[in-house]
Amino acid sequence: MTDATSRRENLLDLDPAAAEERLRAFFASRGEPAYRAKQVVRRLWSAPAADFAAITELPIALRRALDEAFTMPRLELAARQKSTDGTEKFLFRMADGQGIETVAIPEGNRLTLCISSQAGCALQCAFCATGAMGFQRNLKLHEIAGQVREMKLLDPPLDVTNIVFMGMGEPLMNWKAVDATLTVLNSPDGFGIGARHITVSTVGVLPGIIALGERPEQFRLAISIHAPTDDLRQTLMPVNTKYPLADVIEAAKAFDRRVTFEYVMLGGVNDRLEDALNLARLAKECRAFVNLIPLHPGGSMGFTPTPSEAIVRFARELRREGVEVAVRKSRGKDIAAACGQLRVERLGRRAPRVAQQNGHVEVA
Ligand code: SAH
Repeated sequence: MTDATSRRENLLDLDPAAAEERLRAFFASRGEPAYRAKQVVRRLWSAPAADFAAITELPIALRRALDEAFTMPRLELAARQKSTDGTEKFLFRMADGQGIETVAIPEGNRLTLCISSQAGCALQCAFCATGAMGFQRNLKLHEIAGQVREMKLLDPPLDVTNIVFMGMGEPLMNWKAVDATLTVLNSPDGFGIGARHITVSTVGVLPGIIALGERPEQFRLAISIHAPTDDLRQTLMPVNTKYPLADVIEAAKAFDRRVTFEYVMLGGVNDRLEDALNLARLAKECRAFVNLIPLHPGGSMGFTPTPSEAIVRFARELRREGVEVAVRKSRGKDIAAACGQLRVERLGRRAPRVAQQNGHVEVA
């Protein structure tokens, strides 16, 4: 490619320290003081600017020079829907036309942003709309962290306090970009969100769990268990052949922080008393906290939600066994807010580009 755009470096694909280094070199070569780099870094994430022209604290000539050397791309907002319960769902279109979803969930004085880490997903969990569209591609740092950035650029801006990687995709199969995103989310030069307020959710990708555990910050880990035996889990989550329950439980035990189990309640499938007892045994083995998730019915492929009284009974059984449980409130039902549902509604189900069962594990 020969056009000027292709040679410009994307500052939003660098973590704040690397961006600062690049900017220092840039300003030094132009005889500008070093503090200019800090001024620009601030406008990448913590007080994001829509474009270089908006960095009005810099002389106009410098803003132009930055624009010639670098990019700071936005994500195009293709749709925005608000639920009657206050939950908002955003569909962003990437430069190559891929669509990804982000959901903002207000609760008291918190605002949790549910972000996507891949366009589509390779894992094909039986009840999940994202799985049905297949894997398209990994998202880059600027596309994952960009979802938070875009919230700050709304008018009026949304002030995100918590992050969950529970949008489209499997974050631990895109570890390199997710690793860098965690830095941007947590760093004071990024969004400055406390590590305990950031949760990575996974089906149990072992190398990724180890890599996350090796980070010194207290990021939280949630594991999608969804079935307490291999036989049943196999039918719901094909990835179970690669990462069977026993291995996932071992990894959860080895993780040095408290782990949450996610368990989506599927009527007549995984909600029997015996399932509760088996799940309790697994949870106790690694001192996990259990989150029971009511099935989001839209796009959930033939499954029916467990009735809420039965969820309460299931939770009671777990408590009786000495397990800590919460029943997650289902939010945004009227706007198809579960994983993958908005994109499926808007863009239809694309043919998967890679339909391989276990996907591709990328661990730095
Ligand atoms: N790949 C990761 C993160 C994305 S999905 C993971 O599987 O953990 C985030 C959570 O939403 C997972 O627990 C997933 O099983 C759940 N989920 C997917 N579709 C759902 C639906 N229709 N109703 C309720 N939860 C759903």
